[in-house]
Amino acid sequence: KTEHQRKPDWLKIKLNTNEDYKGLKKLMRENNLHTVCEEARCPNIHECWGSRRTATFMILGAVCTRACRFCAVKTGLPNELDLAEPERVADSVVIMNLKHVVVTAVARDDLKDGGSEIFAETIRAIRRKNPFTTIEVLPSDMGGIEQNIQNIMDAKPDILNHNIETVRRLTPRVRARAKYDRSLELLRRAKEMQPTIPTKSSLMLGLGETHEEILEVMDDLRANNVDIMTIGQYLQPTKKHLPVQKYYSPAEFGELRKIAMSKGFSHCEAGPLVRSSYHADEQVNAAAKQ
Ligand code: SF4
Ligand code: SF4
Repeated sequence: KTEHQRKPDWLKIKLNTNEDYKGLKKLMRENNLHTVCEEARCPNIHECWGSRRTATFMILGAVCTRACRFCAVKTGLPNELDLAEPERVADSVVIMNLKHVVVTAVARDDLKDGGSEIFAETIRAIRRKNPFTTIEVLPSDMGGIEQNIQNIMDAKPDILNHNIETVRRLTPRVRARAKYDRSLELLRRAKEMQPTIPTKSSLMLGLGETHEEILEVMDDLRANNVDIMTIGQYLQPTKKHLPVQKYYSPAEFGELRKIAMSKGFSHCEAGPLVRSSYHADEQVNAAAKQ
């Protein structure tokens, strides 16, 4: 490894396990539910599941039909569709007493509706059982199909999040099948369908992007009326995934956050451990105050 690829100290986090957390993990297994928090071994899990009372569920099974080169989710033949999943997610939100829930999913290119109907049903089920929990959805690009986006927006999530992930030039190398412009289009259309629902997108850094390219992403998101941006450090999940080209310092993230805010985002989280769903509860509040 070269010097710049060695993991800096600010990324070395020690996980401690407490009883609460073990109980929640057991609940997930018993209900056959999957969270990104666990599967991505997210370093923020204790803070999120503990004091912040937020979690990210991954619906539509645990196997993705795509294989993005930064992502640790299993890929291959998808699971059979589980029509009871929305209710089980909603029940878990009750048990976990969540203030904010993020619902994401593997890409289901095998389904005509891209899984959008189950997405919508999950939003409705959570809302019925947890009227005070804010709901953020983080779908794939849904194949760019208008009706699929409409299905999700009709269920009125509190935030529509769709990740741009990386800069335009690196998109074909980093994201399987996804297209930079299709992601922008989804964000733009979602806003047109429900203008009062904030939209959000995340960028990972450390894949070889230039400073100018980062600024271009900010401008493209703003040009498509995206309200909230998060910027985090890419970490290589296994040796088979893309290597990290650069670790950005907390100060560099701070600078990028300032630039993003100057471009008109209502909220921007930027930092080495920032994930798409990190501190999402604060973003809903920020968006609501607008
Ligand atoms: Fe889960 Fe997101 Fe929190 Fe990580 S930042 S623990 S993925 S809710
Ligand atoms: Fe991972 Fe999403 Fe890509 Fe599937 S589409 S491999 S879940 S990033």
